[in-house]
Amino acid sequence: MIHLEIGEPDFATPAHISEAAFAAVRAGQTHYCPSAGLPEFRAVIADELARTRGVALEPERVLVGTGAKQFLFFAILAVCEPGDEVLVPDPGFPIYESAIRWAGATPVPLPLREEREFAFDLDELAARLSDRTKLVILNSPNNPTGGVLAADELWSAAELILRTPAWVVSDEVYSRFLYDDPFVSIASAPGMLERTVIVDGLSKTHAMTGWRCGYAGVPGPLVAPLTRFIVNSTSCVPPFIQHAGVAALTGSQAHVVAMVEQFQARRSLVVDGLNSLPGVTCLTPRGAFYAFPNVGALPTPAEVLAARLLDEAGVALLAGSGFGDSGSNHLRISYASSVENLTEALDRIAAFLPALA
Ligand code: PMP
Repeated sequence: MIHLEIGEPDFATPAHISEAAFAAVRAGQTHYCPSAGLPEFRAVIADELARTRGVALEPERVLVGTGAKQFLFFAILAVCEPGDEVLVPDPGFPIYESAIRWAGATPVPLPLREEREFAFDLDELAARLSDRTKLVILNSPNNPTGGVLAADELWSAAELILRTPAWVVSDEVYSRFLYDDPFVSIASAPGMLERTVIVDGLSKTHAMTGWRCGYAGVPGPLVAPLTRFIVNSTSCVPPFIQHAGVAALTGSQAHVVAMVEQFQARRSLVVDGLNSLPGVTCLTPRGAFYAFPNVGALPTPAEVLAARLLDEAGVALLAGSGFGDSGSNHLRISYASSVENLTEALDRIAAFLPALA
């Protein structure tokens, strides 16, 4: 079985980061620590956010959590009540919709348009914003499309959002996985820092998915409620893991550069391979590590195709409809896998497709 369904870097956590955790364990950093995060880690994250987003955030507005995911869930719970509407990217990370429904609020899909390289249409954003909109969730670079929102699109979106009372959760876990563009956060748009929960983490950038450590830059009024969720659930991220986080953010970034280079080469391999298949078209994703080919011209629905590729070709990937209605007719392929695996998977798909005719 070739696994292309999982969204995590296939690289080891860099040794200097692991060593920082081991040293912290040896130094006795194995007890509870402040729920909002270790002060030194929060300060380093504030610097990182300033450097990468140009935002001036005091360390008091930075929180450390058990993965970026914790902030998605807690931010939704903190601001949403039954009857509220939340705009979500469609297709988008399925956790958003699930958490919104858990809070009793209503997800309002904002289509990402393939003809716009999986950006949303500003008119469609405007049409969905109202006084009921409590929160807008953005995710650029996007899972599952690899689409990236351009600065002018984000700036125009910010202007529209600022006319409403809505908060924004900007899920930026793929902020370092960009191949053609510099990273831009909506939090950098005028007036948006006070509205936006910036969510990022160690999982993807530093190949640390299993360490479960994410962070958020948070508007002042949300610091206390979000901290309370951490107090009442996980208490804190283990301090030795936060020390590894300090090493990840302050140490050499050579591993990030090397990883992104590899992903870029794999991206070409996968996109070219998919586009050479009759009935399959695939845009070149500008970020993250997913390809999102359109298989609508094939005689088999994408969901059936994904199931048959799993059972009959030994290739595990996901149907796009699992990410929202606008994902139908697509597959999501993670190219966070070796060149050998990707080549073999493409060969197997190419050999399998004629059986559909
Ligand atoms: N947001 C998106 C868009 C993701 O794809 C993922 C991981 N698949 C996460 C958040 C969760 O990241 P973490 O491991 O930091 O919880």
